[in-house]
Amino acid sequence: MSELRLRAARPGSGIRRTLAEVRLAGGDGRPLDVVLEDGLVADLRPAGTGPVEGEVTDAAGRWILPGLWDFHVHFTQWAQTSRRFDLSGTRTAAEVLAAVDSHTAPTSDAPTGPDEPAVGFGFRNALWPDAADLAAFDRVSHGRAAILIAADLHCVWLNSAALWRYGHSDSATGILREEDAFAVLQSIDSAPESVVDGWVRDAADAASARGVVGIVDFEMAWNLESWSRRIAAGAIALRTRFGIYPQHLDRAIEERLRSGQILPHTHGLLEVGSLKVITDGSLNTRTAYCVDEYPGLAATEHPRGVLNVPPGELVSLMSRARDAGLESAIHAIGDQANTHVLDAFAATGARGSVEHAQLLSADDIARFAALGVTASVQPEHAMDDRDVAERYWAGRTDRAFTLRSILDAGGTLALGSDAPVAPLDPWLAISAAVARSRDGRAPWHPEQSISVAEAIAASTRDGSTTVRAGQVADLVLVDRDPYAATADELRRMPVSATILNGRDTFTSL
Ligand SMILES: [Zn+2]
Repeated sequence: MSELRLRAARPGSGIRRTLAEVRLAGGDGRPLDVVLEDGLVADLRPAGTGPVEGEVTDAAGRWILPGLWDFHVHFTQWAQTSRRFDLSGTRTAAEVLAAVDSHTAPTSDAPTGPDEPAVGFGFRNALWPDAADLAAFDRVSHGRAAILIAADLHCVWLNSAALWRYGHSDSATGILREEDAFAVLQSIDSAPESVVDGWVRDAADAASARGVVGIVDFEMAWNLESWSRRIAAGAIALRTRFGIYPQHLDRAIEERLRSGQILPHTHGLLEVGSLKVITDGSLNTRTAYCVDEYPGLAATEHPRGVLNVPPGELVSLMSRARDAGLESAIHAIGDQANTHVLDAFAATGARGSVEHAQLLSADDIARFAALGVTASVQPEHAMDDRDVAERYWAGRTDRAFTLRSILDAGGTLALGSDAPVAPLDPWLAISAAVARSRDGRAPWHPEQSISVAEAIAASTRDGSTTVRAGQVADLVLVDRDPYAATADELRRMPVSATILNGRDTFTSL
C-alpha cells in the first residue's frame, strides 16, 4: 500500500515547509521538527537542531499522526444530509409524522419549493412501538410528496404522492426496503448537480477539519465521473477511492479500470477502488441475513432477513472483477451473509474486504486472516444499534462487532462511518472501537474493545500509527494526546491542522 501512496503523491506540491515543535502521538513526547518537501515527509529531527526550512508552522507541542481515512462513506448522501429535515431524534412513528407536519406546513421556511418532495433523513424504526400508518402520513404532508429515509439507508417511507411518483402505489404502508429503497434513493432529485457538488465540497472541508485525508466512497453512482468533475472544479481536500456497483462493472472492465489505479488529471487524488456488492440488508430494517430467525418475524416472508444476491451470482461477479484486476468490497451484516461472502472470497481468491461484518459465526472470525480479507467495520453502529441488537440478535450479541477477536486471529480492520448512517468523523469510530460506550452508558461487550493504537492503525491508509521520513505527507495535528485521552475526549478530539500531500487542507494554526 505504501508504494501506492508514494506513486499517488509523486506529482508533488513543490512546497517545502517545517512543522516546528511537534510531538509524535504514541511517541516519547520529545519535540521534533518535521520537514516536508514535495508532498513527502523529508526529515524528522529533534526540535531546534537543524536549519529552519521554508515556511514554518509552529505546532507548539501538538501531537502529530498520519492523516485519517474513512473507509466506508456514501459521500453524496452525506453531503445532502444537512439539507434534509432531521428525523434522528424521533423514537416513534407518531414523532416522525409530527416532524413531517411541521416541516411541510406552508408556514415553514423549508429550503425546497412545494413541487419538490420533502425529504427527511435519519429515522430508526426497528424499535417503534407504533405502526407505520400511510393515511396518517398523507394527512400531515400538506399536499407535498414526502420521502423519509431511514438512518441505515436500507428503508424508506413514502407518502401516497411519493409512492405514485416512484411507481409503488400498491404499497399498503409506504415502507419500501432494500432494492426498492435503493432505487428511490438514487433518483431523488433534490437539487441540480452543480449545487450538490457545492454541498460535496463543503462536506469535504468539514471532513478535513476532523483530520480526514481520504475516503472510500460507496455512493451508488458512476463515481469516476462525479469525482473527476468535482476535482476539476477545485474539490481537492480529500483523496477518494471509489466503489463500482454491479450495474457499472461492464463499463469499468471496458475502460480497463484496475483497483489502485490513480486517475490522470486528478492531482493524484482519485483512485479506482473495488467492486461493491450489497449481499444482504441491515439490522435496523431486519433484513440482515442470519442463521437464526428474527424474533417476531417467523410468520413473515423473510424471517431470517434478505439475501439480495445469491452466492452463485456473487461468485460470478467477484470472478469477473478479479480477472479484470478489481478487488471486491462486499456488504454483509448478518452471520449467514458473512459466511456466504467469505465462501465467495475463498472460491474466487479475490482480494478485498467484507463491508460491515457485523454479526459473525464463531468459525468465520479466523477466516478474515486466513483469506487475507479486510474486515471493514463501523464501530459507531454498535453504539447506535446496541439496543436493537439486544432485541433482534438476542443471545447472539457476543458475536456482534467482534473487533478484538478479528485482530486476535490475525485479521486486518479498516474503520469507517458509513456516513450518513453515522457522522463522517473518524474520532467517533476510534472512540467507539476503544470504549464501546457512548453517553456514559456501560460499555457494550467490552471484551471486544481494541486499543487506541489499533484503532488509529485501522484508520490510516497503510495501517501505520506513526510518522516516518519518506512517507507521504498526509498528516494531522491534534491538541490532545490520543493515547492519553478518555473516550469522550477521543470523540471530541480537537484537530488543529490537516495536511494532504504537504499542503494544508484545514488549519487553525
Ligand atoms: Zn454503506
